[in-house]
Amino acid sequence: MTKDYLLTKSKYIRGLQCEKALYLEVHNPKLAHFSPETLQKFRDGRTFEKRCKDTFPDGVDISRQLGYQMSRYPLLTAQLLRQEGEVTLFEAGFLYDDVLVLADVVRKHADGRVEIFEIKNSLSVTDTFRNDVAIQHYVVSHSLPAILPADIFQAGLELSHFYLLLRGEGDGLRQEDLLEYALGQSAEVGERVARFKEVAAASEPDILMSDHCDRPYECPFKHYCRRQAAARQAFPADPWR
Ligand code: SF4
Repeated sequence: MTKDYLLTKSKYIRGLQCEKALYLEVHNPKLAHFSPETLQKFRDGRTFEKRCKDTFPDGVDISRQLGYQMSRYPLLTAQLLRQEGEVTLFEAGFLYDDVLVLADVVRKHADGRVEIFEIKNSLSVTDTFRNDVAIQHYVVSHSLPAILPADIFQAGLELSHFYLLLRGEGDGLRQEDLLEYALGQSAEVGERVARFKEVAAASEPDILMSDHCDRPYECPFKHYCRRQAAARQAFPADPWR
């Protein structure tokens, strides 16, 4: 099955850190190498995510039905959101502007209001989390009208809250609504998406390693870029490519 999307949320976030990392993630993801510390963070994140999702006992997990068939997520999500009454979905898929995002938790109320919860195993809100919410909001807010148009159904779907679900004091959870922030970012996100699509369609960017390789995350392509840098040093007149 051919992909009907080019970017994902994680590729967008990668592109904000480094356009070369975005390019590699699109064209050569097998070059990625994650450190044991990063893999442990992923595991801790999944454990926290499960704990949060358990607080939504009626949630339907789309990933259980579709696994890695990512292109099918938006259609099944739309079908489930069109059901009457309250619907809660885990890993709901939305597609717009060649970007696919999966939302951790989507709750549709009977009156058509939609709330989204993005789960982060953290005590505080970081710039990366804000960017994460901004790209999701960009895709979800543009795709909702096509899922349930207000002129066909009595109540069109309306994104009313976009929460970050974080660790709170002790074993508690806390949520912060970033909808206003995301609304203000929409135009900028659209420009970035256009830029990242150009990056993905062009040849590999010539970007040298520097401090940005560890901010905000350790880049998984450091092994590749180090080898490239070593080859450049060894053969300065005959660069890697
Ligand atoms: S290691 Fe650094 S230069 Fe290379 S792709 Fe990652 S962030 Fe970019």
